[in-house]
Parts: sequence; structure tokens; C-alpha cells
Amino acid sequence: MSRLLLKRIKIMSFICVLIIVSFTVITFASSSPKFGLPISCNLGKNCYIMHYVDLDPTPKEVDFGCGRQTYDTHNGTDFGIANLQVMKQGVSVTAIADGVVLRVRDGVEDDLISNQEEKKAIEGKECGNGIVIKHENGWESQYCHLKQNSIIVKNGMKVKKGTVLGMVGTSGLSSFPHVHLSIRNNGKIVDPFVGITDKTGCEIKKNSLWDRSINYIPTGLIDAGFADEIPTQQKLWEGKFYRHQINSKSPQLLFWINMFGVLENDIEYFQLVNPNNQVIINQENPIKKSSRLWMTYTGKNNKSTLEKGIWIGNYKLIRNNQIIVNLERKITIN
Ligand SMILES: [Zn+2]
Repeated sequence: MSRLLLKRIKIMSFICVLIIVSFTVITFASSSPKFGLPISCNLGKNCYIMHYVDLDPTPKEVDFGCGRQTYDTHNGTDFGIANLQVMKQGVSVTAIADGVVLRVRDGVEDDLISNQEEKKAIEGKECGNGIVIKHENGWESQYCHLKQNSIIVKNGMKVKKGTVLGMVGTSGLSSFPHVHLSIRNNGKIVDPFVGITDKTGCEIKKNSLWDRSINYIPTGLIDAGFADEIPTQQKLWEGKFYRHQINSKSPQLLFWINMFGVLENDIEYFQLVNPNNQVIINQENPIKKSSRLWMTYTGKNNKSTLEKGIWIGNYKLIRNNQIIVNLERKITIN
């Protein structure tokens, strides 16, 4: 055989191998699912991701972005809404892909679990009102904490991607209104931001299973507004000050912010401006301890009456000289 022929054969075999490899890669990629969101909302606008899957096998925790928006052994992604008032208006939980309903539980009360006693009372029903859906190729999705008596699918029912399954709630082991989504492949938990992997920890290759790009947001706003009494986290979850009206005789005017993912050494800046454009409060507050959930407020005690008109609250969260959260809220005092 001539050298030239040998060279040609070598080149041809190389091309063949290349074609086979690319074909396998394409086939594999097309068989990996593309999941939709389990909730009908606008991420970053009227909903947010509070917790991700814990990728640390030890009793510590780490999320896929190497941050701390997860907790030990958390096996899903938590999509949250602002409060119980929004929950009552109804936010849909939707199927992330075509499939068949495997299991359903409904009838569990919606509750904001805040202590060990309440936690113990719902033992065995941690998922609350939940649904499991079987998809193709060994995939399964589970949706937890739905609103009591809101589930509209039954065992054996075929669903399409995007089918409404029920409404977001806070049943089972849940301290805020949200839907917890667990994804499994052949029984093994898969982080949808990572894809199937044998590796642990966050410094790994990630093949997102979502059908859209979802930014990693380790720090963000849940809601902000005004109150006429000291806000507590529980009251904010209840929606007590959601679109709250305050009048000029109110004893206090408090500007509150509910957030997730503050870090030690972040600095928050508050400003409260009255209808005459006077800065009533100009305050700086260094964050002393990192926290997954953060409720903060500033305010004015009212000795006589509040000036009628539009009051403005400004808030900034700064980290390493960068603005992480920046917002303005207005309220009309009558
Ligand atoms: Zn969860």
C-alpha cells in the first residue's frame, strides 16, 4: 500500500470516528430533558428561588453557585411567593414536563411552621399536599406544600408540560408560601441546575436541565413596603402589610424590606423622605451575620400627625462596593 493511500485511510477513519462521536453527543443531548418551571410567575419579579439543592454530602451545605442558599440535605428547589395574601389570590403550580401522575396527597392544612412543636405535629407529612409525576427515561418530579384542596389532578392522569396541577401553598413542613420541586432520575436526586452527575460539591461541570436560562441569584428581594406597627417575619409572611394603607394619625411609619441571602459585612442604607422632600431618616446598618432570610426596617415615631402626601423609602444593599439590591417604595398618606 502506498504511503498516500495509508494517509488517506487514516484521515477517513479519523473523520468516521469524529462523525460517530458527534452523533452520540447530539443523541445524548437531545434525550436529556428540558424542564419548564413548576410555578406560573415571573422569576425576579413576583417570585424568587429561596433554596437550591444541597450539593454537600457532609453535614454542611452548599448550593450549585457555591453559595449558602440551601440547607443540609435539602433535596429540591424552593420557588417562593411574597406572602399568604398573594397565595390566596392563587399562583399555579405547573408540570415541568409531559408525564403521568403517580401519587397525589391533598387535605393538609396550610401553616407557617416556626417551631419544633409544630414541626413534630406534621411528621410524616413533610411534603404537605404533594404530587409525583413520572416522565420518560426514568425521570420523576415531585411538587410539595401545595394549597389545601387545590390539587386538580388524579393518579394515572396524563399531563402535558405546563399543565396546572394545583396552587402554591404552605402545607407540610413549610415556613413560607412556596413550591418545593424535587427531580429524580432512576430514584436519584438531580439538581436541575447541574444535571446528572456522580460528583458532589459545587466545583463541578453543570448541564442545566431547564428549558431557559435561569440566573443564579444568591441575594434578592422578596417584598418591601410600609407598616404602622413593628413588622415581624411572621407578619410579613402573613401579608399583614401587603399594599398596606396608612393614615396621618398612625403612631408610626415604618419602611420594611424582606430579602434572602444577606452576607456578613454587607452594608444596608435606608432613607425615608417626607412629602416636603426632607430626608427624615438617613441610616447605615452593617450586617453582622450572614442569613438566608433577612427582614429589616427603619422608621419614624409620630409625635403629632404625619405630613399628608407621598412618602418615599429608599434602600440599598452594598457588598464590596457593589450595589446588590436597590429599591424605592412610595406610600400616600391621607
Ligand atoms: Zn424545599
